[in-house]
Amino acid sequence: MTVAPQPNDLRPVIEADRRHVWHHMLQHKPLETGDPRIIVEGKGLKVWDAAGREYIDALSGGVWTVNVGYGRTSIADAVRDQLVRMNYFAQSAGSIPAARFAEKLLEKMPGLSRVYFNNSGSEANEKVFKMVRQIAHRHHGGGKWKILYRERDYHGTTIATLAAGGQPERAAMYGPYPDGFVMVPHCLEYRRQWDDGSYGERAADAIEEVILREGPETVGLLCLEPITAGGGVIVPPAGYWERVQEICARYEILLHIDEVVCGLGRTGTWFGYQNFGIRPDFVTMAKGVASGYAAISCTVTTEAVFERFKDGADPMAHFRDISTFGGCAGGPAAALETMRIIEDEGLLDNCLAMGARLRANLEALKEKHAVIGDVRGMGLFQGAELVKDRATREPVDEPSIARVVAETAARGVMIGASNRSVPGLNNVLCLAPALVASAAEIDAITAAMDGALSAVFP
Ligand code: PMP
Repeated sequence: MTVAPQPNDLRPVIEADRRHVWHHMLQHKPLETGDPRIIVEGKGLKVWDAAGREYIDALSGGVWTVNVGYGRTSIADAVRDQLVRMNYFAQSAGSIPAARFAEKLLEKMPGLSRVYFNNSGSEANEKVFKMVRQIAHRHHGGGKWKILYRERDYHGTTIATLAAGGQPERAAMYGPYPDGFVMVPHCLEYRRQWDDGSYGERAADAIEEVILREGPETVGLLCLEPITAGGGVIVPPAGYWERVQEICARYEILLHIDEVVCGLGRTGTWFGYQNFGIRPDFVTMAKGVASGYAAISCTVTTEAVFERFKDGADPMAHFRDISTFGGCAGGPAAALETMRIIEDEGLLDNCLAMGARLRANLEALKEKHAVIGDVRGMGLFQGAELVKDRATREPVDEPSIARVVAETAARGVMIGASNRSVPGLNNVLCLAPALVASAAEIDAITAAMDGALSAVFP
């Protein structure tokens, strides 16, 4: 293992960062006196910062991305080989890795047959919205143009994807938003909104109520995360997906599953939706597709949707869209190698085994720490919701959550917290270590959390 650079070597870099870099999701005031965090090296689940500190990264690059772990020379080699041969051409033409990757990906996605290449999750989602709007114009006489999204879900950072975002605080300062985006209620049983019948079916019926209120002839798309990630690690309850699928079929509404977080192995299956028997019309993916080794995202759809851009009276009809960097050939080269690694190293199985261990460890922490009200997730995608009181389920306050994250980092483990989705409900600790995690690493992650929880809630 190489030794992380000494802090002195990096002093000029740290100063350049402090002066010139605008970090994402960060309040910069503390950086006027303290150093910014700069990550200089990674291997497996481990990362080292510019001060030489070592961490286990329990959130795969801070935002559930580096699924096959750091330091993968075979991905770097695949990208390099592709770049020296052919780095870029607009996707109006094809590339060898794009065709090979599309074929291999679709082998894992029965029922879907077309891949549109872009470079971020937001963009992949926005392409779905544009496809649906074009179908509305060409095939529904302007009807079926509305897009339903769910409270607490997140689909991206652009204005249209924020319009489809169920986390109001993220969207609060960037309006006005485009028309035709309509929210349906979340389905988190721990924070029940209804008391009658099966909770899963009831939460799905709430979607139908919105459709009937809006008028089914106006609704073209239902966009959902298979498991809500940043909105609080929400696994929909039993019965939900079957009912959602029925409702979409009944009202001819296309179903879009946003796999930006679950995509490529996170829950122990290639995609999150495959745990639930869902038959989507669109699937989008980004983060885990090339594990952060290249910027690539995909909008995947069915032949039936694809055909709608060819049929009709206009022989020149097509999807009037381009993503310039969707033509970077390094992206699919990295993605193809990522898939090979997942298969050859048995990472779906490891994800299930280590996910079960992580879950059991979290359940044990819940036994010990009354502040943990709920533990939930699938595979190596788990969350722990913190409450002041288990009976009332009143959420802990935001500074306390931040302290737990900081105390865990002080013990050498980086974890995350849910977004300030619904005010007061950003109280879920988020865990998504790389799929290569070992039993010792899983135990080290929960041991650090144990210490942090004891320190913050003695
Ligand atoms: N969808 C989901 C579920 C996400 O978690 C994210 C990113 N956090 C996005 C979409 C947006 O992806 P990107 O940041 O690559 O645009």
